[in-house]
Amino acid sequence: MLNPCDQDFAGRLAAEIPGLSIKPAEPRYLEEPRGKFIGLPTWVAAPSSTEMVARVVRLASDASVGIQPYGGGTGLVGGQIVTEGPEPLILSMEKMRAIRAVYPAENTLIVEAGATLAEIHDAADDANRLFPLSYASQGTAQIGSGLAVNSGGLNVLRYGMARDLCLGVEAVLANGTVFNGLKRLRKDNTGYDIRHLLIGSEGTLGIITAAALSLAPKPARHGTAFLEVAGPKEALELLNAIRESAGDVVSAFELMSGTGLDFLAEVFPDVRRPFRHNPEWTVLVEIGTSEAVDPEEILSDTFESALETGWVTDGLIATSGAQREAFWAVRETIPQANRAIGAVASHDISLPLSELPEFLESMPTRIAGIADVRVNAFGHLGDGNLHYNVFPPAGRSAAEFKSAAPDLSTLIHDEVVRLGGSFSAEHGIGRLKTGELARYGDPAKLSVMKAIKTALDPHGILNPGVVLD
Ligand SMILES: Cc1cc2nc3c(=O)[nH]c(=O)nc-3n(C[C@H](O)[C@H](O)[C@H](O)COP(=O)(O)OP(=O)(O)OC[C@H]3O[C@@H](n4cnc5c(N)ncnc54)[C@H](O)[C@@H]3O)c2cc1C
Repeated sequence: MLNPCDQDFAGRLAAEIPGLSIKPAEPRYLEEPRGKFIGLPTWVAAPSSTEMVARVVRLASDASVGIQPYGGGTGLVGGQIVTEGPEPLILSMEKMRAIRAVYPAENTLIVEAGATLAEIHDAADDANRLFPLSYASQGTAQIGSGLAVNSGGLNVLRYGMARDLCLGVEAVLANGTVFNGLKRLRKDNTGYDIRHLLIGSEGTLGIITAAALSLAPKPARHGTAFLEVAGPKEALELLNAIRESAGDVVSAFELMSGTGLDFLAEVFPDVRRPFRHNPEWTVLVEIGTSEAVDPEEILSDTFESALETGWVTDGLIATSGAQREAFWAVRETIPQANRAIGAVASHDISLPLSELPEFLESMPTRIAGIADVRVNAFGHLGDGNLHYNVFPPAGRSAAEFKSAAPDLSTLIHDEVVRLGGSFSAEHGIGRLKTGELARYGDPAKLSVMKAIKTALDPHGILNPGVVLD
């Protein structure tokens, strides 16, 4: 049984760890982006070194006080918010954001957990390298949490998820010991890989304090196209055709449904949509090439042959940086438009690529059997990852459909799992999906997960209630 983080415990931390910032939690630590979870009023400690994190964890372990690791607070599954039980100590990584070292010749850098993705992009850019992990929240979202949830984003197709970009981690375990795993090696087969155990554990097995990350050469040239496609199946044919003809150059391949463009027109009319009408399906394709290869030529050759096969029916290729940005603004404003409209239920799903078209075609009719709602499907098509969100019809509110939400989510997740997909592609389990994990998780996997949690955190102080309820 855990004890609450009360004034006495906060006072002990302050007295025993000189220089530790500790104060009552401001509202920003207690809310998450969609307003689904409201945290318990408590205290926030913001250590400025790994040793300080270790001392905080040791004291919390001795006092049986829960620890809530906190990054930028942009997580979408409530993993950074404790809503019930004894108040935990919020452990914010905001003061640990140093770039410890950059090794351009190795294509690696070492960074503290609290650095934002945008800060790491800048550091890589200064060394003429690319750190490819990228998503709309990158100005606030941190790397420690990005690893903790194994985040994905826009460039997974070419460069992989957070896990694929991490060579080593430093972390504080539940008993306060420091795991010194900051290796910069691409090959290191020396027993169990603790790094990969911590990545994706959502702060339930350790606090990541620093990471060794791999960088990529910066593409010298970019080509970006916004294309109207005949449907998701044709979009996938197009993706394969580009990869076959031009090699591994596609960094983003984002699908958007007409509903998403309708939402933009409704709530953000100033965001310029590329077509006069809102096509039923569009894709945003981005390729990055070396100086010697002309990306516009690749895109226009692909465009012409895709027009002939009927995969593409209309399209634009960006001819300037401003146009490229305008294309991306459309894709990146869709989540905000979704929030403004107000979802009945949201789903971060992935499917084997060949199952995707049938899923997208068959689901709307089945959903209509439960409620008269609108579906906005969009996302990282090349990775098989879609945000499949359900909204009220125009003029109605999400609250009116609240009672239908559980049935809608069950229908969608049942079908995803039946087709061999995942009910959480890139956002994690957090607090939101513990029920789904218990329902759909492989029993052997669940029992291994419980055994690992018990072995590494026997008193359950790290992120209580997250992942395993
Ligand atoms: C507009 C928007 C767009 C987004 N787009 C994407 C996207 O395309 N792809 C994607 O994957 N996600 C996306 N997200 C979700 C979110 O930004 C990511 O999950 C991100 O990695 C969370 O980072 P954060 O620093 O805000 O973490 P937080 O929300 O603070 O924490 C996330 C989780 O990590 C744990 N944690 C935090 N720091 C540590 C640490 N140092 N050690 C151990 N555990 C820790 C927390 O306890 C929590 O469980 C988006 C979110 C928004 C709001």
